[in-house]
Amino acid sequence: MKAHDGMYIGGAWRPAAGRDRIEVVNPADEQVIAEVPAGSADDVDAAVRAARAALPGWAATAPAERAALIGALRDVLLARKGEIAQTITAELGSPLGFSEMVQVGAPIAVASSYAELGASYAFEERLGNSTVLLEPIGVVGAITPWNYPLHQVVAKVAPALAAGCTLVLKPAEDTPLTAQLFAEAVHEAGIPAGVFNLVTGTGPVAGQALAAHEGVDLVSFTGSTAVGKQIGATAGAAVKRVALELGGKSANVILPGADLAKAVATGVGHVMNNTGQSCNALTRMLVHRDQYEEAVSLAAAAVATYPSGDPTDPATRLGPVVNAKQHERVRGYIAKGVEEGARLVAGGPDAPHERGYFVAPTVFADVTPEMTIAQEEIFGPVLSILPYEDEEDALRIANGTVYGLGGAVWAADEETAVAFARRMDTGQVDINGGRFNVLAPFGGYKQSGVGRELGPHGLAEYLQTKSLQF
Ligand code: NAD
Repeated sequence: MKAHDGMYIGGAWRPAAGRDRIEVVNPADEQVIAEVPAGSADDVDAAVRAARAALPGWAATAPAERAALIGALRDVLLARKGEIAQTITAELGSPLGFSEMVQVGAPIAVASSYAELGASYAFEERLGNSTVLLEPIGVVGAITPWNYPLHQVVAKVAPALAAGCTLVLKPAEDTPLTAQLFAEAVHEAGIPAGVFNLVTGTGPVAGQALAAHEGVDLVSFTGSTAVGKQIGATAGAAVKRVALELGGKSANVILPGADLAKAVATGVGHVMNNTGQSCNALTRMLVHRDQYEEAVSLAAAAVATYPSGDPTDPATRLGPVVNAKQHERVRGYIAKGVEEGARLVAGGPDAPHERGYFVAPTVFADVTPEMTIAQEEIFGPVLSILPYEDEEDALRIANGTVYGLGGAVWAADEETAVAFARRMDTGQVDINGGRFNVLAPFGGYKQSGVGRELGPHGLAEYLQTKSLQF
Protein backbone atom coordinates (compact mmCIF):
# COMPACT_ATOMS: atom_id res chain seq x y z
CA MET A 1 0.00 0.00 0.00
CA LYS A 2 1.27 3.45 -0.89
CA ALA A 3 1.33 5.81 2.08
CA HIS A 4 2.15 9.52 2.34
CA ASP A 5 5.04 10.27 4.63
CA GLY A 6 3.51 13.50 5.85
CA MET A 7 0.47 15.42 7.01
CA TYR A 8 -2.00 17.13 4.68
CA ILE A 9 -1.93 20.70 6.00
CA GLY A 10 -2.81 23.93 4.21
CA GLY A 11 -3.40 22.13 0.91
CA ALA A 12 -0.07 20.25 0.73
CA TRP A 13 1.65 17.15 2.14
CA ARG A 14 4.19 18.36 4.70
CA PRO A 15 6.77 16.38 6.67
CA ALA A 16 5.75 15.61 10.25
CA ALA A 17 7.35 17.62 13.04
CA GLY A 18 8.61 14.48 14.84
CA ARG A 19 9.90 11.04 13.91
CA ASP A 20 7.29 8.79 15.51
CA ARG A 21 5.58 6.31 13.18
CA ILE A 22 2.46 4.16 13.13
CA GLU A 23 2.62 0.72 11.52
CA VAL A 24 -0.47 -0.27 9.57
CA VAL A 25 -1.24 -3.99 9.89
CA ASN A 26 -3.46 -6.15 7.68
CA PRO A 27 -5.61 -7.97 10.25
CA ALA A 28 -6.25 -10.91 7.92
CA ASP A 29 -2.57 -11.99 7.81
CA GLU A 30 -0.93 -9.84 10.52
CA GLN A 31 1.55 -8.34 8.01
CA VAL A 32 2.69 -4.71 8.21
CA ILE A 33 1.49 -3.10 4.98
CA ALA A 34 2.54 0.51 5.46
CA GLU A 35 3.80 3.16 7.86
CA VAL A 36 2.50 6.65 8.41
CA PRO A 37 3.84 9.44 10.60
CA ALA A 38 2.44 9.72 14.14
CA GLY A 39 1.68 13.40 14.57
CA SER A 40 2.65 15.46 17.60
CA ALA A 41 1.09 18.50 19.24
CA ASP A 42 3.19 20.63 16.85
CA ASP A 43 1.58 19.02 13.80
CA VAL A 44 -1.86 19.53 15.33
CA ASP A 45 -1.02 23.16 16.02
CA ALA A 46 0.10 23.74 12.40
CA ALA A 47 -3.09 22.10 11.12
CA VAL A 48 -5.37 24.14 13.41
CA ARG A 49 -3.61 27.35 12.31
CA ALA A 50 -4.15 26.42 8.66
CA ALA A 51 -7.83 25.69 9.34
CA ARG A 52 -8.26 29.00 11.18
CA ALA A 53 -6.56 30.94 8.40
CA ALA A 54 -8.89 29.37 5.82
CA LEU A 55 -12.04 29.93 7.90
CA PRO A 56 -13.07 33.49 6.94
CA GLY A 57 -12.83 32.78 3.21
CA TRP A 58 -14.67 29.46 3.39
CA ALA A 59 -17.39 30.78 5.74
CA ALA A 60 -18.00 33.65 3.29
CA THR A 61 -18.22 31.35 0.26
CA ALA A 62 -21.79 31.07 -1.02
CA PRO A 63 -23.53 27.89 0.26
CA ALA A 64 -24.24 26.77 -3.32
CA GLU A 65 -20.54 27.02 -4.16
CA ARG A 66 -19.56 25.01 -1.08
CA ALA A 67 -22.22 22.45 -1.96
CA ALA A 68 -20.86 22.19 -5.51
CA LEU A 69 -17.40 21.39 -4.10
CA ILE A 70 -18.93 18.66 -1.89
CA GLY A 71 -20.46 17.30 -5.11
CA ALA A 72 -17.02 17.36 -6.74
CA LEU A 73 -15.60 15.49 -3.72
CA ARG A 74 -18.37 12.88 -4.09
CA ASP A 75 -17.42 12.47 -7.76
CA VAL A 76 -13.76 11.84 -6.90
CA LEU A 77 -14.74 9.28 -4.24
CA LEU A 78 -16.96 7.58 -6.80
CA ALA A 79 -14.19 7.52 -9.41
CA ARG A 80 -11.74 6.04 -6.88
CA LYS A 81 -14.23 3.67 -5.29
CA GLY A 82 -12.34 0.46 -6.11
CA GLU A 83 -9.02 1.69 -4.76
CA ILE A 84 -10.59 2.98 -1.54
CA ALA A 85 -12.49 -0.30 -1.00
CA GLN A 86 -9.27 -2.30 -1.44
CA THR A 87 -7.49 -0.06 1.06
CA ILE A 88 -10.27 -0.47 3.62
CA THR A 89 -10.18 -4.23 3.19
CA ALA A 90 -6.39 -4.22 3.63
CA GLU A 91 -6.29 -2.15 6.81
CA LEU A 92 -9.65 -3.07 8.42
CA GLY A 93 -10.29 -6.58 7.07
CA SER A 94 -13.91 -6.17 5.94
CA PRO A 95 -14.83 -8.46 3.00
CA LEU A 96 -14.22 -6.68 -0.29
CA GLY A 97 -17.86 -6.78 -1.42
CA PHE A 98 -18.94 -5.16 1.86
CA SER A 99 -16.17 -2.58 1.54
CA GLU A 100 -17.40 -1.60 -1.92
CA MET A 101 -21.11 -1.60 -1.18
CA VAL A 102 -21.25 -0.28 2.36
CA GLN A 103 -17.86 1.06 3.46
CA VAL A 104 -17.53 3.22 0.33
CA GLY A 105 -21.12 3.19 -0.99
CA ALA A 106 -22.65 4.72 2.16
CA PRO A 107 -20.26 7.69 2.42
CA ILE A 108 -20.75 8.44 -1.28
CA ALA A 109 -24.49 8.59 -0.58
CA VAL A 110 -23.83 10.82 2.45
CA ALA A 111 -21.63 13.17 0.39
CA SER A 112 -24.41 13.32 -2.25
CA SER A 113 -26.98 14.19 0.39
CA TYR A 114 -24.86 17.14 1.59
CA ALA A 115 -24.17 18.30 -1.97
CA GLU A 116 -27.97 18.77 -2.16
CA LEU A 117 -28.70 19.88 1.40
CA GLY A 118 -25.86 22.39 1.46
CA ALA A 119 -27.41 24.23 -1.46
CA SER A 120 -31.03 24.14 -0.26
CA TYR A 121 -30.62 24.57 3.52
CA ALA A 122 -32.15 27.72 5.05
CA PHE A 123 -29.20 29.47 6.70
CA GLU A 124 -31.54 32.29 7.76
CA GLU A 125 -34.95 32.30 9.38
CA ARG A 126 -37.48 34.97 10.36
CA LEU A 127 -39.02 34.83 13.87
CA GLY A 128 -41.34 37.74 14.75
CA ASN A 129 -39.25 40.91 14.54
CA SER A 130 -35.97 38.96 14.33
CA THR A 131 -33.87 37.45 11.61
CA VAL A 132 -31.91 34.46 12.86
CA LEU A 133 -28.64 33.77 11.09
CA LEU A 134 -27.26 30.23 11.22
CA GLU A 135 -23.50 30.71 11.03
CA PRO A 136 -20.63 28.21 10.94
CA ILE A 137 -19.24 27.35 14.38
CA GLY A 138 -15.67 27.75 13.14
CA VAL A 139 -12.79 25.30 13.26
CA VAL A 140 -13.80 21.68 13.85
CA GLY A 141 -11.52 19.06 15.41
CA ALA A 142 -12.79 15.72 14.07
CA ILE A 143 -11.65 12.48 15.75
CA THR A 144 -12.82 9.24 14.13
CA PRO A 145 -12.72 5.46 14.77
CA TRP A 146 -11.62 2.63 12.48
CA ASN A 147 -14.82 0.65 12.07
CA TYR A 148 -16.12 2.60 9.05
CA PRO A 149 -12.93 4.47 8.12
CA LEU A 150 -14.40 6.51 5.24
CA HIS A 151 -17.99 6.85 6.43
CA GLN A 152 -17.04 8.21 9.87
CA VAL A 153 -14.89 10.84 8.17
CA VAL A 154 -17.46 11.86 5.53
CA ALA A 155 -20.25 11.97 8.16
CA LYS A 156 -18.31 14.81 9.83
CA VAL A 157 -16.48 16.50 6.94
CA ALA A 158 -19.41 16.83 4.50
CA PRO A 159 -21.83 18.62 6.89
CA ALA A 160 -19.01 20.74 8.35
CA LEU A 161 -18.04 21.90 4.86
CA ALA A 162 -21.69 22.56 3.96
CA ALA A 163 -22.03 24.68 7.11
CA GLY A 164 -18.95 26.76 6.24
CA CYS A 165 -16.63 25.30 8.88
CA THR A 166 -13.01 24.28 8.34
CA LEU A 167 -11.52 21.14 9.86
CA VAL A 168 -8.63 19.17 11.22
CA LEU A 169 -9.13 15.39 11.10
CA LYS A 170 -7.35 12.93 13.38
CA PRO A 171 -8.34 9.46 12.10
CA ALA A 172 -7.98 6.17 13.98
CA GLU A 173 -4.50 4.65 14.28
CA ASP A 174 -5.59 1.40 12.59
CA THR A 175 -6.97 2.97 9.40
CA PRO A 176 -4.87 6.00 8.41
CA LEU A 177 -4.48 4.93 4.76
CA THR A 178 -8.17 5.47 4.00
CA ALA A 179 -7.90 8.92 5.61
CA GLN A 180 -4.91 9.74 3.39
CA LEU A 181 -6.89 8.68 0.30
CA PHE A 182 -9.73 10.91 1.48
CA ALA A 183 -7.30 13.87 1.78
CA GLU A 184 -6.15 13.17 -1.79
CA ALA A 185 -9.80 13.25 -2.89
CA VAL A 186 -10.36 16.59 -1.11
CA HIS A 187 -7.34 17.99 -2.95
CA GLU A 188 -8.43 16.61 -6.31
CA ALA A 189 -11.95 18.03 -5.83
CA GLY A 190 -10.47 21.53 -5.60
CA ILE A 191 -11.51 22.32 -2.04
CA PRO A 192 -9.43 25.38 -1.07
CA ALA A 193 -6.17 24.94 0.85
CA GLY A 194 -6.55 24.84 4.63
CA VAL A 195 -10.29 24.06 4.62
CA PHE A 196 -9.57 20.39 5.35
CA ASN A 197 -6.40 19.22 7.12
CA LEU A 198 -5.25 15.75 8.15
CA VAL A 199 -3.00 14.79 11.05
CA THR A 200 -2.42 11.06 11.50
CA GLY A 201 -1.36 9.99 14.97
CA THR A 202 -2.32 8.29 18.20
CA GLY A 203 -5.30 9.18 20.37
CA PRO A 204 -3.42 10.09 23.53
CA VAL A 205 -0.98 12.37 21.64
CA ALA A 206 -2.50 13.88 18.47
CA GLY A 207 -6.14 13.25 19.47
CA GLN A 208 -5.68 14.74 22.91
CA ALA A 209 -3.80 17.77 21.50
CA LEU A 210 -6.61 18.39 19.00
CA ALA A 211 -9.40 18.05 21.59
CA ALA A 212 -7.61 20.48 23.92
CA HIS A 213 -6.43 23.01 21.29
CA GLU A 214 -7.74 26.49 21.99
CA GLY A 215 -8.05 27.21 18.28
CA VAL A 216 -10.72 24.49 17.90
CA ASP A 217 -14.34 25.63 18.33
CA LEU A 218 -16.10 22.26 18.15
CA VAL A 219 -14.78 18.80 18.87
CA SER A 220 -16.68 16.12 16.97
CA PHE A 221 -15.74 12.69 18.26
CA THR A 222 -16.83 9.18 17.34
CA GLY A 223 -15.45 6.31 19.35
CA SER A 224 -15.66 4.60 22.70
CA THR A 225 -17.70 5.93 25.61
CA ALA A 226 -14.59 5.91 27.83
CA VAL A 227 -12.64 8.28 25.56
CA GLY A 228 -15.80 10.29 24.81
CA LYS A 229 -16.23 11.07 28.51
CA GLN A 230 -12.67 12.37 28.66
CA ILE A 231 -13.11 14.51 25.55
CA GLY A 232 -16.42 15.86 26.83
CA ALA A 233 -14.72 16.90 30.09
CA THR A 234 -11.83 18.60 28.27
CA ALA A 235 -14.18 20.45 25.91
CA GLY A 236 -16.55 21.40 28.73
CA ALA A 237 -13.74 22.92 30.76
CA ALA A 238 -12.84 25.13 27.78
CA VAL A 239 -16.53 26.01 27.07
CA LYS A 240 -16.18 24.43 23.66
CA ARG A 241 -18.98 22.72 21.75
CA VAL A 242 -18.73 18.96 21.59
CA ALA A 243 -20.49 16.19 19.65
CA LEU A 244 -20.04 12.61 20.84
CA GLU A 245 -21.06 9.51 18.91
CA LEU A 246 -20.26 6.66 21.31
CA GLY A 247 -20.91 3.00 21.95
CA GLY A 248 -24.08 0.93 21.88
CA LYS A 249 -25.71 -2.31 23.00
CA SER A 250 -28.76 -2.24 20.79
CA ALA A 251 -31.81 -4.44 21.21
CA ASN A 252 -33.58 -6.32 18.45
CA VAL A 253 -37.06 -6.95 19.87
CA ILE A 254 -39.08 -9.67 18.17
CA LEU A 255 -42.70 -9.43 19.33
CA PRO A 256 -45.15 -12.35 19.04
CA GLY A 257 -46.79 -12.39 15.61
CA ALA A 258 -43.67 -11.13 13.79
CA ASP A 259 -42.15 -13.04 10.89
CA LEU A 260 -39.72 -14.94 13.12
CA ALA A 261 -37.52 -16.46 10.40
CA LYS A 262 -37.04 -13.10 8.67
CA ALA A 263 -36.48 -11.23 11.92
CA VAL A 264 -33.83 -13.70 13.12
CA ALA A 265 -32.00 -13.89 9.77
CA THR A 266 -31.96 -10.09 9.40
CA GLY A 267 -30.87 -9.69 13.02
CA VAL A 268 -28.01 -12.18 12.62
CA GLY A 269 -26.87 -10.38 9.44
CA HIS A 270 -26.90 -7.07 11.29
CA VAL A 271 -24.49 -8.43 13.91
CA MET A 272 -22.22 -10.34 11.52
CA ASN A 273 -21.82 -7.49 9.00
CA ASN A 274 -18.48 -5.75 9.48
CA THR A 275 -17.59 -8.56 11.93
CA GLY A 276 -19.84 -7.05 14.58
CA GLN A 277 -17.86 -3.82 14.58
CA SER A 278 -20.79 -1.47 14.10
CA CYS A 279 -21.69 0.81 16.98
CA ASN A 280 -25.42 0.25 16.35
CA ALA A 281 -25.14 -3.55 15.86
CA LEU A 282 -28.24 -5.33 17.18
CA THR A 283 -26.26 -7.51 19.57
CA ARG A 284 -29.15 -8.37 21.92
CA MET A 285 -31.99 -10.33 20.36
CA LEU A 286 -35.10 -10.42 22.56
CA VAL A 287 -37.55 -13.25 21.88
CA HIS A 288 -40.78 -14.28 23.64
CA ARG A 289 -40.43 -17.38 25.83
CA ASP A 290 -42.87 -19.35 23.59
CA GLN A 291 -40.75 -18.88 20.44
CA TYR A 292 -37.39 -18.89 22.14
CA GLU A 293 -35.97 -22.30 21.19
CA GLU A 294 -37.14 -21.90 17.61
CA ALA A 295 -35.36 -18.54 17.38
CA VAL A 296 -32.16 -20.02 18.87
CA SER A 297 -32.12 -22.81 16.24
CA LEU A 298 -32.78 -20.33 13.44
CA ALA A 299 -29.93 -18.11 14.65
CA ALA A 300 -27.50 -21.04 14.90
CA ALA A 301 -28.38 -22.01 11.30
CA ALA A 302 -28.04 -18.40 10.11
CA VAL A 303 -24.51 -17.89 11.48
CA ALA A 304 -23.39 -21.05 9.70
CA THR A 305 -23.85 -19.08 6.45
CA TYR A 306 -21.06 -16.65 7.50
CA PRO A 307 -17.79 -18.37 6.55
CA SER A 308 -14.73 -16.45 7.78
CA GLY A 309 -11.46 -16.14 5.91
CA ASP A 310 -9.52 -14.06 3.40
CA PRO A 311 -11.57 -10.86 2.97
CA THR A 312 -10.50 -10.57 -0.68
CA ASP A 313 -12.11 -13.97 -1.44
CA PRO A 314 -15.69 -13.38 -2.70
CA ALA A 315 -16.90 -16.44 -0.73
CA THR A 316 -15.90 -14.83 2.59
CA ARG A 317 -18.70 -13.18 4.53
CA LEU A 318 -16.85 -12.60 7.82
CA GLY A 319 -13.49 -10.88 7.99
CA PRO A 320 -11.14 -10.66 10.98
CA VAL A 321 -11.59 -8.10 13.74
CA VAL A 322 -9.39 -5.04 13.35
CA ASN A 323 -6.35 -5.74 15.55
CA ALA A 324 -4.70 -7.99 18.10
CA LYS A 325 -6.14 -6.06 21.03
CA GLN A 326 -9.72 -6.43 19.78
CA HIS A 327 -9.00 -10.10 19.03
CA GLU A 328 -8.10 -10.68 22.70
CA ARG A 329 -10.92 -8.49 23.96
CA VAL A 330 -13.71 -10.11 21.93
CA ARG A 331 -12.60 -13.66 22.73
CA GLY A 332 -12.30 -12.60 26.38
CA TYR A 333 -15.98 -11.57 26.32
CA ILE A 334 -16.94 -14.93 24.80
CA ALA A 335 -15.05 -16.76 27.56
CA LYS A 336 -16.81 -14.54 30.11
CA GLY A 337 -20.22 -15.44 28.63
CA VAL A 338 -19.45 -19.15 29.09
CA GLU A 339 -18.13 -18.52 32.60
CA GLU A 340 -21.27 -16.61 33.61
CA GLY A 341 -23.48 -19.49 32.47
CA ALA A 342 -24.76 -18.51 29.03
CA ARG A 343 -25.34 -21.42 26.61
CA LEU A 344 -23.00 -21.41 23.61
CA VAL A 345 -24.94 -22.53 20.53
CA ALA A 346 -22.42 -21.51 17.85
CA GLY A 347 -18.80 -20.37 17.77
CA GLY A 348 -16.72 -19.93 20.90
CA PRO A 349 -13.52 -18.31 22.13
CA ASP A 350 -11.05 -20.34 20.03
CA ALA A 351 -9.54 -18.56 17.02
CA PRO A 352 -10.84 -20.33 13.89
CA HIS A 353 -7.69 -19.74 11.79
CA GLU A 354 -4.01 -19.96 12.62
CA ARG A 355 -3.20 -16.53 11.30
CA GLY A 356 -5.18 -13.33 11.32
CA TYR A 357 -7.40 -11.82 13.99
CA PHE A 358 -10.40 -14.05 13.31
CA VAL A 359 -13.22 -14.74 15.75
CA ALA A 360 -15.76 -17.53 15.18
CA PRO A 361 -19.29 -16.20 14.61
CA THR A 362 -20.80 -16.78 18.02
CA VAL A 363 -24.34 -17.13 19.36
CA PHE A 364 -25.25 -17.32 23.04
CA ALA A 365 -28.63 -18.49 24.35
CA ASP A 366 -30.00 -18.32 27.91
CA VAL A 367 -28.46 -14.91 28.34
CA THR A 368 -29.84 -12.96 31.30
CA PRO A 369 -30.01 -9.15 31.29
CA GLU A 370 -27.40 -8.70 34.01
CA MET A 371 -24.68 -10.82 32.35
CA THR A 372 -21.58 -8.98 31.15
CA ILE A 373 -22.25 -10.03 27.53
CA ALA A 374 -25.73 -8.45 27.79
CA GLN A 375 -24.47 -5.18 29.25
CA GLU A 376 -21.10 -4.32 27.71
CA GLU A 377 -20.26 -3.50 24.13
CA ILE A 378 -18.29 -6.41 22.65
CA PHE A 379 -17.63 -5.05 19.14
CA GLY A 380 -17.25 -8.48 17.58
CA PRO A 381 -19.40 -11.16 15.84
CA VAL A 382 -21.23 -12.17 19.01
CA LEU A 383 -25.02 -12.37 19.37
CA SER A 384 -26.84 -12.80 22.67
CA ILE A 385 -30.41 -14.12 22.64
CA LEU A 386 -32.50 -13.23 25.67
CA PRO A 387 -35.96 -14.61 26.50
CA TYR A 388 -38.75 -12.32 27.75
CA GLU A 389 -42.09 -13.06 29.40
CA ASP A 390 -44.29 -10.24 28.07
CA GLU A 391 -44.01 -6.81 26.42
CA GLU A 392 -43.29 -4.97 29.67
CA ASP A 393 -40.47 -7.41 30.39
CA ALA A 394 -39.11 -6.95 26.86
CA LEU A 395 -39.14 -3.16 27.28
CA ARG A 396 -37.37 -3.37 30.64
CA ILE A 397 -34.63 -5.55 29.11
CA ALA A 398 -34.35 -3.41 25.96
CA ASN A 399 -33.93 -0.21 28.01
CA GLY A 400 -31.81 -1.85 30.71
CA THR A 401 -28.31 -0.77 29.66
CA VAL A 402 -26.37 2.51 29.88
CA TYR A 403 -26.54 2.77 26.07
CA GLY A 404 -29.22 3.89 23.62
CA LEU A 405 -27.95 4.09 20.07
CA GLY A 406 -29.79 1.71 17.73
CA GLY A 407 -32.63 -0.76 17.97
CA ALA A 408 -35.18 -2.75 16.03
CA VAL A 409 -38.73 -3.94 16.57
CA TRP A 410 -40.49 -6.70 14.65
CA ALA A 411 -44.23 -7.19 15.05
CA ALA A 412 -47.25 -8.47 13.13
CA ASP A 413 -48.08 -4.92 12.08
CA GLU A 414 -46.35 -1.53 11.95
CA GLU A 415 -48.66 0.04 14.50
CA THR A 416 -47.69 -2.46 17.21
CA ALA A 417 -44.00 -2.10 16.38
CA VAL A 418 -44.15 1.72 16.42
CA ALA A 419 -46.01 1.75 19.75
CA PHE A 420 -43.17 -0.30 21.25
CA ALA A 421 -40.46 1.79 19.54
CA ARG A 422 -41.88 4.98 21.07
CA ARG A 423 -41.14 3.56 24.52
CA MET A 424 -37.52 2.62 23.74
CA ASP A 425 -34.76 4.85 25.13
CA THR A 426 -32.70 4.93 21.96
CA GLY A 427 -31.83 7.22 19.06
CA GLN A 428 -32.82 5.00 16.12
CA VAL A 429 -35.25 2.09 15.69
CA ASP A 430 -35.73 -0.01 12.55
CA ILE A 431 -39.37 -1.05 12.15
CA ASN A 432 -39.91 -4.55 10.67
CA GLY A 433 -36.53 -4.47 8.94
CA GLY A 434 -36.54 -0.77 7.91
CA ARG A 435 -33.42 0.18 5.95
CA PHE A 436 -30.60 2.61 6.76
CA ASN A 437 -31.44 6.16 5.68
CA VAL A 438 -28.64 8.69 5.08
CA LEU A 439 -31.01 11.58 5.88
CA ALA A 440 -32.19 10.25 9.26
CA PRO A 441 -30.50 11.71 12.37
CA PHE A 442 -28.03 9.20 13.81
CA GLY A 443 -26.91 9.39 17.42
CA GLY A 444 -27.50 8.25 20.93
CA TYR A 445 -29.66 8.52 24.02
CA LYS A 446 -28.00 8.10 27.43
CA GLN A 447 -24.29 7.19 27.30
CA SER A 448 -24.37 6.57 23.55
CA GLY A 449 -23.63 10.21 22.99
CA VAL A 450 -24.50 13.83 22.50
CA GLY A 451 -25.60 15.30 19.17
CA ARG A 452 -26.68 13.83 15.86
CA GLU A 453 -24.99 13.08 12.55
CA LEU A 454 -26.37 12.84 8.98
CA GLY A 455 -29.08 14.76 7.15
CA PRO A 456 -30.29 18.24 8.16
CA HIS A 457 -29.92 17.43 11.88
CA GLY A 458 -26.27 16.58 11.25
CA LEU A 459 -25.74 19.89 9.44
CA ALA A 460 -27.30 21.85 12.32
CA GLU A 461 -24.56 20.51 14.63
CA TYR A 462 -22.02 22.68 12.82
CA LEU A 463 -24.02 25.90 13.05
CA GLN A 464 -24.47 28.54 15.73
CA THR A 465 -27.22 31.14 15.82
CA LYS A 466 -27.16 34.92 15.81
CA SER A 467 -30.39 36.88 16.02
CA LEU A 468 -30.91 40.36 14.61
CA GLN A 469 -33.87 42.35 15.99
CA PHE A 470 -35.70 44.86 13.81
P1 NAD B 1 -11.51 4.83 20.67
O1 NAD B 1 -12.38 5.67 21.51
O2 NAD B 1 -10.40 4.12 21.30
O3 NAD B 1 -10.88 5.69 19.48
C1 NAD B 1 -11.63 6.55 18.66
C2 NAD B 1 -10.74 7.70 18.22
O4 NAD B 1 -10.37 8.46 19.35
C3 NAD B 1 -9.44 7.27 17.54
O5 NAD B 1 -9.12 8.17 16.52
C4 NAD B 1 -8.44 7.40 18.67
O6 NAD B 1 -7.13 7.61 18.23
C5 NAD B 1 -8.96 8.61 19.41
N1 NAD B 1 -8.55 8.70 20.80
C6 NAD B 1 -8.23 7.69 21.66
N2 NAD B 1 -7.87 8.21 22.86
C7 NAD B 1 -7.98 9.55 22.76
C8 NAD B 1 -7.76 10.63 23.68
N3 NAD B 1 -7.37 10.42 24.92
N4 NAD B 1 -7.98 11.88 23.23
C9 NAD B 1 -8.40 12.12 21.98
N5 NAD B 1 -8.61 11.15 21.08
C10 NAD B 1 -8.41 9.88 21.46
O7 NAD B 1 -12.51 3.85 19.95
P2 NAD B 1 -12.16 2.77 18.83
O8 NAD B 1 -11.64 1.55 19.49
O9 NAD B 1 -11.34 3.37 17.77
O10 NAD B 1 -13.62 2.52 18.20
C11 NAD B 1 -14.52 1.65 18.75
C12 NAD B 1 -15.58 2.37 19.56
O11 NAD B 1 -16.20 3.41 18.80
C13 NAD B 1 -16.71 1.49 19.96
O12 NAD B 1 -16.98 1.66 21.33
C14 NAD B 1 -17.89 1.95 19.12
O13 NAD B 1 -19.15 1.73 19.63
C15 NAD B 1 -17.62 3.37 18.96
N6 NAD B 1 -18.26 3.87 17.72
C16 NAD B 1 -19.36 4.67 17.83
C17 NAD B 1 -20.01 5.13 16.70
C18 NAD B 1 -21.21 6.02 16.75
O14 NAD B 1 -21.58 6.61 15.76
N7 NAD B 1 -21.87 6.14 17.88
C19 NAD B 1 -19.50 4.78 15.46
C20 NAD B 1 -18.38 3.97 15.39
C21 NAD B 1 -17.76 3.53 16.55
